[in-house]
Amino acid sequence: MKRKPLLAGNWKMYTTAPEAQQLAAAVAKAANKVSGRDVMVAPPYTAMAAVSTILSDTGVILGAQNVHWEEQGAFTGEISAPMLKDLGCSMAIVGHSERRHVFGETDFMINRRISGAIQFGLIPVFCIGETLEEREAGQTLKVLEDQVRAGLAGIELADGGQIVVAYEPVWAIGTGKTATETQAQEVHSFIRSLLADIYEKNIAAQIRILYGGSVKPENIDILMQQDDIDGALVGGAALKAEMFERIICFQ
Ligand code: PEP
Repeated sequence: MKRKPLLAGNWKMYTTAPEAQQLAAAVAKAANKVSGRDVMVAPPYTAMAAVSTILSDTGVILGAQNVHWEEQGAFTGEISAPMLKDLGCSMAIVGHSERRHVFGETDFMINRRISGAIQFGLIPVFCIGETLEEREAGQTLKVLEDQVRAGLAGIELADGGQIVVAYEPVWAIGTGKTATETQAQEVHSFIRSLLADIYEKNIAAQIRILYGGSVKPENIDILMQQDDIDGALVGGAALKAEMFERIICFQ
């Protein structure tokens, strides 16, 4: 089954609002050069309103870097799905390795965030990935299976378009080390079979599974040629307009 590719940029804690507007304008221009693929950017919250204005009517999707599960409440430092939707946001990254490993987010919290996002009509980009120690100990697939099953516990999907999964090996994020296309395809195929076990096969076939971890102009083409790689979640290279343009325009 052919899934629409999704090229997503995670801007992390970079860019002031004017810088973000400039970058967003360049991304919109680049996205206009290609068709049949989705492009998403996730700026810091402080720049989302400014970026939303730039992206309106461009087709580029506005994403958030996280989302809380409640509609509102006493949750200092958090942001809710309705608040994000109000800004024109339609996707939210959930369970990014920096949230898991730097800020101590647990599978349970990630599960609630995914559930909340879907409930309010946001598409979660659910990130999973093993550490270097786990890979070297031969635990990669077990760790990923645990993360997928815990993250999706109790979550029903009417169709595969309601969620995106991102496989991001922790050892490849921001390190310049990329999983080879063969390593990535093997894991993506495993994740899809797991999704078919949790949901129906046709739903699993619709779910986009992105690869993330030092994606750059030099490796995007070969990664995108793999059957189960449906796009990329990009950090560092998404902050450089010309690099992200090359990624969006993969061949
Ligand atoms: C990320 O932050 O999701 C990421 C993949 O970063 P980088 O592309 O810099 O490795």
